[in-house]
Amino acid sequence: MTEKPTLIIANLTGCTGCVISILDLHEEILEILDKVNLIYCPTIIDVKEIPTCDIALVNGTIGNEHDIEVAKDVEKKAKKVIALGSCACFGGICGLRNFFTKEETIEYAYKTILTNDSNVLPSEVPQLTEFVDVVQNVINVDYRIPGCPPIPSMIKKVLTALLESQEPEQPTKNLCSECEKVHENMLIPTKEFLTFQVVASHEVDYKEELCFLEQGILCIGFATRAGCEGRCVNSNLPCRGCMGPLEKEVDQGCAAISGLASIFPIGQLIQQEDLSGTVYRYSLPYSILHRISKDQKEDD
Ligand code: SF4
Ligand code: SF4
Repeated sequence: MTEKPTLIIANLTGCTGCVISILDLHEEILEILDKVNLIYCPTIIDVKEIPTCDIALVNGTIGNEHDIEVAKDVEKKAKKVIALGSCACFGGICGLRNFFTKEETIEYAYKTILTNDSNVLPSEVPQLTEFVDVVQNVINVDYRIPGCPPIPSMIKKVLTALLESQEPEQPTKNLCSECEKVHENMLIPTKEFLTFQVVASHEVDYKEELCFLEQGILCIGFATRAGCEGRCVNSNLPCRGCMGPLEKEVDQGCAAISGLASIFPIGQLIQQEDLSGTVYRYSLPYSILHRISKDQKEDD
């Protein structure tokens, strides 16, 4: 009898929601386990050492020295490495730390918050890296499954393709290409701005069938790769970009600002609270902005 290929799931800095997303396949997970032996996954299996394997799913981002060790160990032991989730692919929510220095982060987390009265800094835990980085900047990554968390059907599709020795297909278009919301005025050439303010859906007479942007509600689906099945926009939540930039786009934030500037009055855009945190919410460590600031700090 032929041995089944082996699969491991390794965790770096993150919330482990990506692993829960695999479990969210429910009974379909049996179809995967029929084809593969899951031999390491700290979230659900008590195995301490990373074993050699055919496929490794790595979730979480590179945020401390331990993450670097784990990632390098995975690279040595796995034939194919898949970055799972936005943290691994683009830095994700954890990557927002890159708006601050390591010292500012430590100061805030351990000295400002109310639960640490003693102001004691931890010394026996892995040290934070200067910046949060994406997995592919530390080790060789063969495939990426973006999303925060990635959708179960996409995980299944990619794993099934690899187990059948096929090349997994990745979406190439943006979310707007599969969004069912309609445009009434957006595509009609006009000198007038469509909206003069940035609002939340509860502040306007929100129309469910209409594109968020036409109603002044910030949605960055146009700068975000498709493939999430529109789970947020279909639930009346604007897209915040967890699927990351399009394949040939390296800076999702720039693409979003550039697109928005062509619709919203630029003054309103600049006044918006935390614009950078919004458009780079999932992809700051993957962006050009991060690379420039990293290079500058390394030169200093
Ligand atoms: S991508 Fe999202 S779900 Fe996955 S580890 Fe990061 S924060 Fe958690
Ligand atoms: S901007 Fe948002 S709401 Fe508008 S079409 Fe694109 S994904 Fe849909």
